[in-house]
Amino acid sequence: MKKIAIITGASKGIGRQVAKELAKSNIQVIANYNKSEKDAIQLKEELKKENIEIDIFKANVTKREEIKKMVQFALEKYHKIDILINNAGISEYKMFTDETDEDWNNVINTNLYSVFAMTQEVVPNMIHNKNGCIINISSIWGIVGASLEVLYSISKSGINGMTKALAKELGPSNIRVNAIAPGIINTQMNSKLSEEEITRIKEEIPLEKIGNPIEIAKCIKWLIDDNYTTGQIISINGGWSIT
Ligand code: NDP
Repeated sequence: MKKIAIITGASKGIGRQVAKELAKSNIQVIANYNKSEKDAIQLKEELKKENIEIDIFKANVTKREEIKKMVQFALEKYHKIDILINNAGISEYKMFTDETDEDWNNVINTNLYSVFAMTQEVVPNMIHNKNGCIINISSIWGIVGASLEVLYSISKSGINGMTKALAKELGPSNIRVNAIAPGIINTQMNSKLSEEEITRIKEEIPLEKIGNPIEIAKCIKWLIDDNYTTGQIISINGGWSIT
């Protein structure tokens, strides 16, 4: 039987590429989206042309009730969930002294609470099946911190802590929990950066280039196939940060 995967934030960027790669690898994909319905429908249609069927599911991953509905949909249709990719996220660029409680709630709920709540809803089924692979999309800034991105850095280091702790707790149930910490990847998230800023960043990266979503998708495929890696934060950043 096919493996079943839920990917959050699969309408755009990294999540979209991951959805395509997994679907093409004979994994049954449930691609979550929130605001970008058109993109999600277009993804489904694009894959359908290759005779690949995926499900798209609208859910705001900051809302427990919407998460519950998505997990219920997956379990009613496929009776199990093998893979959870917690990818949905937002960035924010502000002086620390300008951050508000609303900013805190927005960034922390979208980037961190979503990972907590999604994982909590999916894990009972994985424990029951004694099988599971959870991959959280973190960031280089969760490891080394970024000026003007304090809330984002907090959210991603929270993901890293959760990944390590949960790997220990769920290992005996044969559930692996890992995170990928990308550097800079060519998606809409970075569309606000000017050409000069991109050039400056490239100069700081030993491999002298920006990454592409496919690099993250390839690592995710490897982590799914593997069965002995858990609790790791895997940096994919062109050497931008080597810790
Ligand atoms: P994009 O902005 O291209 O895509 C973000 C995705 O997240 C969209 O599909 C969006 O869905 C979804 N999303 C946002 N909020 C919610 C929500 N409340 N509920 C459900 N889905 C939501 O970003 P990337 O692809 O670049 O980022 C993906 C992940 O990778 C993020 O966690 C990000 O922090 C991380 N990352 C990205 C890096 C980069 O350089 N691009 C570097 C390091 C980490 P919709 O539009 O439908 O609402």
